[in-house]
Amino acid sequence: DDTSELFSIEESLKELAQLADTAGLLVVDSTYQKLSTPNPRTYIGSGKVAEIKTAINGYGVETVIFDDELSPGQLRNLEKAFGGNVRVCDRTALILDIFDQRAATREAALQVALAQMEYQLPRLTKMWTHLERQSGGQVKGMGEKQIEVDKRILRTQIGVLKKELESVRKHRKQYRTRRLSVPVPVVSLVGYTNAGKSTLLNQLTGANVLAEDRLFATLDPTTRRVQMKNGKEFLLTDTVGFIQKLPTTLVAAFRATLEEISESSLLVHVIDISHPLAEQQIEAVEKVLSELDSTSIPKLMVWNKVDKATNPEEIKLKAKSLEDTICISALNGSGLDEFCNAVQEKLKDSMVWVEALVP
Ligand code: GDP
Repeated sequence: DDTSELFSIEESLKELAQLADTAGLLVVDSTYQKLSTPNPRTYIGSGKVAEIKTAINGYGVETVIFDDELSPGQLRNLEKAFGGNVRVCDRTALILDIFDQRAATREAALQVALAQMEYQLPRLTKMWTHLERQSGGQVKGMGEKQIEVDKRILRTQIGVLKKELESVRKHRKQYRTRRLSVPVPVVSLVGYTNAGKSTLLNQLTGANVLAEDRLFATLDPTTRRVQMKNGKEFLLTDTVGFIQKLPTTLVAAFRATLEEISESSLLVHVIDISHPLAEQQIEAVEKVLSELDSTSIPKLMVWNKVDKATNPEEIKLKAKSLEDTICISALNGSGLDEFCNAVQEKLKDSMVWVEALVP
């Protein structure tokens, strides 16, 4: 993945540890190995496998998480090597777990369930062929039959889920069309996870959207009406946070949700300017945005968390010198007037509508 190269191995592992923490796991150690190509059987080399096994026994580890997607075979071989009670998973499975824990609406829950099943489908197949081999071929044919049965069950379930999802989405679309018939421009907040999107939404609207220092606090899009001092209004939507190495199954799963982005009048890209990897995070977000065909939508860059930056004055000066960039602190509210003015400036054309409505 080309965005993953923006992040060093250490940085990516640090983020993985943060994801694990978000999932409720306690991280005790992390390690990596440089290989010209991953080991086809175990992803890492046999020496590294032994080293991790020692650490597992030392710490009493229950879960080992890999930062890259493992093949079904690698997953199985690693679980075998580490011992029966250790769960081995990859970034994708971990993110799926987090999404599963946090899905608040029916649509999000259905999307996650669907993504989980699609993730399982190829892995299921390999599990049965493995059992067959293990039994020395005694259950030959039976395993194959079982795979077919299981795959059929899973496919049926996937079909049912897809239908349900479709009907949930149809409802939402009807609602959205109704909403769009009211001439209020829609502004979408986009940004790397934890950049402060929910906090900004809360500050502007007094909405009580879950904002916490965890990755993916927001899973479902939330829309609130923002009224400015001059009576003008816009709708502000908080979308799912982006992250590097967002598994393709998940991008696909959340596509429908993200599609709302491409229908907005303005994108507000919220950036955590105090984060050491702010630049890489911007690039990762821009990459997803370009995949969503939203490059033609006007955009405002919002440098958030200036209160936390070590050199706030320097940052403010730099932001001023860049076009379409403003500095705020969503937490203490500084720069929000300037933010609203900038939004208004950007929405000039669509704002005419609203102006006509205000007596
Ligand atoms: P989201 O994932 O983009 O929705 O981010 P959140 O709104 O959940 O914010 C993530 C964390 O950053 C929370 O702990 C917020 O309190 C914190 N945060 C958000 N904005 C600011 C800010 O302007 N300054 C500081 N210091 N912290 C902030």
